[in-house]
This record gives sequence, C-alpha cells and structure tokens, in this order.
Amino acid sequence: MNETTAQLLPGPGAVDPAGAAAVLRHARDVLVVGHVRPDADAAGSAIALATALRRAGTPATVAFGGPDQVPDTVAVLDRDGIVVPAAEAPADPDLLVCCDTSARRRLGDLSDRLDRARSSLAIDHHASFTGFATHHLVDPVAPATVTLVRRVLAELGAGIDPVIARALFAGLYTDTGGFRWGGADAMRLGAELVDAGAEPRELLRELSGTRPFGWLAAQATVLAGARSEPDAACGAGLVWAVVDACTATRYRDETVTIVGELLATAGDGVAALLTETAADAWSVSLRGTGAPDLSRVATALGGGGHPAAAGFERTGTRDEILAALRAGLAA
Ligand code: AMP
Ligand code: MN
Ligand code: MN
Repeated sequence: MNETTAQLLPGPGAVDPAGAAAVLRHARDVLVVGHVRPDADAAGSAIALATALRRAGTPATVAFGGPDQVPDTVAVLDRDGIVVPAAEAPADPDLLVCCDTSARRRLGDLSDRLDRARSSLAIDHHASFTGFATHHLVDPVAPATVTLVRRVLAELGAGIDPVIARALFAGLYTDTGGFRWGGADAMRLGAELVDAGAEPRELLRELSGTRPFGWLAAQATVLAGARSEPDAACGAGLVWAVVDACTATRYRDETVTIVGELLATAGDGVAALLTETAADAWSVSLRGTGAPDLSRVATALGGGGHPAAAGFERTGTRDEILAALRAGLAA
C-alpha cells in the first residue's frame, strides 16, 4: 500500500500515519493490544510497534485479552519477551493502541483499558471498523494492519531490525494469503522486510509449518464431517465443518488452516468452520470470493471482517448457528 492507494476512514479522531506518529510521540507509556485470539496480523502489528517504541525509549508493553494460553503466533514473534498476560497488563496506561481490532468487544478482557487509558489509538484495516478509540488510523483497502504500522514506524523514523521485520512479515504474509492479495506493494514491503532480516522459511515453519502428530487424525475427523450445501448462499453453495470443543481445546492453533481446505472445495461459494469454544458457544470463520460480502453477513450476525474473510461469535446449538448462517447468506 502507498499514499496513492490508501483510503483512510474519515470521521472524528481520524489521523493519517503522521498524526498517529505524533500521538505516539507524546505518550508517556503505551499498552499495545490486538484482538482476542490474535492472528499473525494482530500479534505482529502489536509486537512490531511496541518493540520500536521501546527502542526509542518509550515504555511499551503488549497484551491480548484472551485466551490465557499463549497462541503460537505470539510465542513465535515475541523474541524479546514484551508480551505479558492480560492480568498483568498495565491498568491505567497513558496511551492504549489497539491493532487489527474492529470493535471494542474484540479486546476481550482488556476492553476496560479503553476507559482507563488517558487516550487511545486504533490502527486497523477492517471495513467493519467501529469508531471506539480517541484516534483512529483505519484503511479498509490496506491488505494487513502491519502495512499501516510500517507507515507509522516510517513517520517515527524507527529503523526496522530483524525482530520488527519478522513480526511485520508474519502479519503481511498471513493477511495477504501468502501474497495472493495486496499486489506489488505488498510484495515490495515483503522484500523490504526480508532485506531487514525476516527469514520467510524459518519464520513460516515456526508459524504454521509444524503440527503435533495427533492433528493428522483430528483433522481427518473434522474433514470427514464436512457437508456441502449447493443451494445455500443463493446457489453459490456452502461447505461447512465443525471442530468440537475437545478438538478445539487441544488443537486450537492448528485449526486455522481447515477453513482454507473447505474453501478449496467450495467453488465460487462460501466456506464456514464452526468451532465450539464452550458448551453452545461458537466461533465461526467464513471464507469466500468476496461475493456475497462476508463482512456484511458476519456483521449482521454480530461479528465482522472483510468481504472474503470474516467471522462471528454466537451462542446456540450447532443447528441454530447453521440456520442463522444460511439465513444470513440468503439475505
Ligand atoms: P478468522 O476466521 O478468525 O481468521 O477471521 C477472519 C476475519 O474476520 C478477520 O479479519 C477477523 O478480524 C474477522 N473476525 C473474525 N471473528 C470476528 C468477530 N467475532 N468480530 C469481528 N470480526 C471478526
Ligand atoms: Mn486479525
Ligand atoms: Mn488483519
């Protein structure tokens, strides 16, 4: 992404990268957070930004509002140990920065920091962004939040060392679907980050290239339970599968690739992975081609996301979730 393609969301509190850098420069101390169950974009954005702030002498900490167990994305990217458990996150930070987070409730256990911090800055790329922070730098056409963080770092004059490069590369690679989206700008940034010390082969092996042996059988069970509904989504079709609570608890970090497997069989239709997070509580991942607009579908069901990748959380039986999803896709 560059200046010419950026489409910054306007509104009260809107800032450009230079404005975001000014907010950061004036902060006495910063708590940097991302959405719950952080993916590589949320974790990479937060870790890269906090690392750069620390290098510049500003006290900065990273935390995520759930789950308590550290996800692989965070463990792999947090080389300097700057991520603390939510319970240990500073209670009254001078500035709260929320990365890759479209709505207040996506901060989970840390959403109270929005009220306790002196001010807040959201850096995000969701079209479904809801203005919940004092300042926001939001570009719905940016392929990843890390591209916005990169621009803020440039405004701060921060150098890109290998720890920062790795964190940014992880988010860029993941959110662009391995450089499928984001065009030449994403690839140029990728090249810049590799030059700065990100090592794709080692990093991607750590992020997603290794799995426990037991996952083979667990994955086979999930995929064997997949169902295809050709008439759903106004004839575009729906392929869905379920990860039960037991498998979800044991293999949470591994399950993220499954929805891609479903999508590969969905033609021009929609893939949905229903993950049981507790009894009658579900986290649903949606993938498609952009039509229907899954951000719209997920937002109507209480979640959000992007046209081709979205999600929501909802309580009910499996069949109630499926019925709500079918209705949303038919609307
Ligand atoms: P996921 O399927 O969890 O990888 O999420 C795909 C996209 O949808 C990401 O951009 C998420 O940020 C977004 N998303 C997922 N779940 C939710 C939710 N409950 N509320 C808002 N956005 C969500
Ligand atoms: Mn994310
Ligand atoms: Mn993202």
